Amino acid sequence: MGRYVYSSSYSPVGDLMVISICLVMIILMLFSYNRRSKSFGIFLSEIGFVMLAAYSDVVFHLLAPTAQPERIPLLNGIRCAYHAFLFLIFVLFVVYIAEVTRLDRGRKRLFAGLAMAVFLTVVAVDIADTLRGLSLRRTDDGIVFQGRGIFMYGYAAFVAIIVVMLVHVRKRLYRRVMLGFYGTMIVSFTMLLLQGMKGQSSFTVATFLYPVIAMFYIMHSTPYDATLGAIDSSALEDMVKYSYDRRRDFIFMSLYMRTFDEEGKRLPEALQATIRRFSTDFFNGATLFQVGKGHMILVFWKSRNVDYEQRIQSILSAFNDEYRRFQYDYKIVIGHSIPEVSRKNEYVSFIRNIHRTMPENTIRRIEPGDVKRFNSNEYVLRALEDIYKKRDLDDPRVLAYCQPVYNIKTGKYDTAEALMRLELEETGMVFPDQFIPLAEENGYIHILTEIILNKTCQAIRQLTEAGYAVSRISVNVSVLELKDERFCDDIIRIIKKNGIAGEKIAIELTESKNDSDFILMKEKISELRKLGIKFYLDDFGTGYSNMERIMELPFDIIKFDRSMVIASGESERSKRIVVSLANLLSEMDYSVLFEGVEKEADEQMCIGMSASYLQGYKYSKPVPIETLTAYFER
Ligand code: C2E
Ligand code: CA
Ligand code: CA
Repeated sequence: MGRYVYSSSYSPVGDLMVISICLVMIILMLFSYNRRSKSFGIFLSEIGFVMLAAYSDVVFHLLAPTAQPERIPLLNGIRCAYHAFLFLIFVLFVVYIAEVTRLDRGRKRLFAGLAMAVFLTVVAVDIADTLRGLSLRRTDDGIVFQGRGIFMYGYAAFVAIIVVMLVHVRKRLYRRVMLGFYGTMIVSFTMLLLQGMKGQSSFTVATFLYPVIAMFYIMHSTPYDATLGAIDSSALEDMVKYSYDRRRDFIFMSLYMRTFDEEGKRLPEALQATIRRFSTDFFNGATLFQVGKGHMILVFWKSRNVDYEQRIQSILSAFNDEYRRFQYDYKIVIGHSIPEVSRKNEYVSFIRNIHRTMPENTIRRIEPGDVKRFNSNEYVLRALEDIYKKRDLDDPRVLAYCQPVYNIKTGKYDTAEALMRLELEETGMVFPDQFIPLAEENGYIHILTEIILNKTCQAIRQLTEAGYAVSRISVNVSVLELKDERFCDDIIRIIKKNGIAGEKIAIELTESKNDSDFILMKEKISELRKLGIKFYLDDFGTGYSNMERIMELPFDIIKFDRSMVIASGESERSKRIVVSLANLLSEMDYSVLFEGVEKEADEQMCIGMSASYLQGYKYSKPVPIETLTAYFER
């Protein structure tokens, strides 16, 4: 570094600017949305050290020119602290990159260790030099500094570590994020170089500020995911609004992979790399939005991709190749911007609504009917929300329909299944296939069950009081409801409130292949059976039917799904399977019920298959619960 006299080349302008810019950033952070994560904490410490460095630099130069000899140790201390702050910024920068790129622990330690080693060396040499009087001392010319340029070596070492690191993680980082960091570093070097050529020292801290500004801008003020290059759904909403206001059409391609929808599941690195490539290689100026854990939407302007049909074909065929490699289930939805959906800014729920009707591993183009269906679903959802909020067990919008069940032994109707419908002002009657999934997904299913149970209990009471022989009526319960601790209490309370016996109610459940659901089911069934409530296994034969498990659960009736009835009518082989299943189950003391008996032939066939009950259009379609009087005996 040579010899020079302090006061000549330093001006506090640079450092004061740095301090004020840091303050501005802090103010901006206080009043704006920032992505807070572990890396955000590191970033805040960076700002702190930049400010400390600038501050100590100013203080040093303020005191140095007029310092008395006895002040020299203090000044040397400040000088050492200043260097230490600067190099701590470097250490944190290395830790920061390791954090945002989610390096594995081994690599994280390696880079952090290297950075610490350089840091400690610089600090140690700095202190040693100072003690040996090589730093600041008083001569006849005034105060003179004579360093060994350890600062420059340290700087170079850190830049080397950071460049190696950025090269190492380049495949994990989204390209624009990488370029952002590189660009900032180039500006810093240029500054430092120019300053050196001019024999200046006023802008040293400023060169450390630029990477910190880059962090703020790239990582915390814009919602980029550094590894995927995706932006989150709030950014998608901004984009949709922009396009709607300017009437600019866009095209979206949505990719949903349910595998990654679960908590804690991360996209594997190879898949991330593929998605990054897909988001940049096929369309001009496409932006990728991550709107859910396993849900990404690629959006691009139609005007910048006039030949978009061809491009879509090529991305889809490339996708097909990748699918063969990764084999994750997917649903792809492709469409143009739709003014109606844009106006409400609801692409994510619009697409989710379409997913509901799609089998896995299919690609679907938006059709005009989709918007209509979406609007109607939104309307139903709003109604469900209102039903949920009102908590009225007599809510007139929820209708209890009932399908009588034919008892083969007695030749009479003495049981029935309660089936729900909604009656809404704008849509009229809504059927379960439309609203049950919506209610389940949004947490509104249990209140519906409570209402239906309440209405069923009321009907049972009225029928019994009028002298009708009602053995029981079954209600459908979703497995999701069992997860609520209050489930059993709710059921018991409603039955008791209506003053009927537990035996008059049955609960229909469908199988679930989930272990925890199984345990839950076992617990709840045991608890409610104590009150005499009966349990039916619904839709037997449609799911995955683990016989061992089924037999562990104390069901009273097994309801064979209509598909089994159809299959038996179509092939002799299927029929033999169904017959032996039915025989086995009735030998195990379960009663067997066949659902979806439509024709005379179905009935004949089922009677020959050790069935106890039959249910289906042959006997009756679901009817309003009051009209059960037409079926039950007095
Ligand atoms: P599920 O429990 O299997 O109910 C039987 C469905 O089959 C009913 O449709 C019924 O109308 C229909 N069905 C009855 N006999 C025949 C027949 O002979 N042929 C044909 N093709 N179909 C027949 P629905 O009422 O539309 O209910 C559909 C599903 O919605 C039900 O299937 C059930 O899973 C669910 N669901 C209905 N009500 C409720 C409820 O209160 N709570 C819950 N959680 N789910 C319900
Ligand atoms: Ca059922
Ligand atoms: Ca069923």
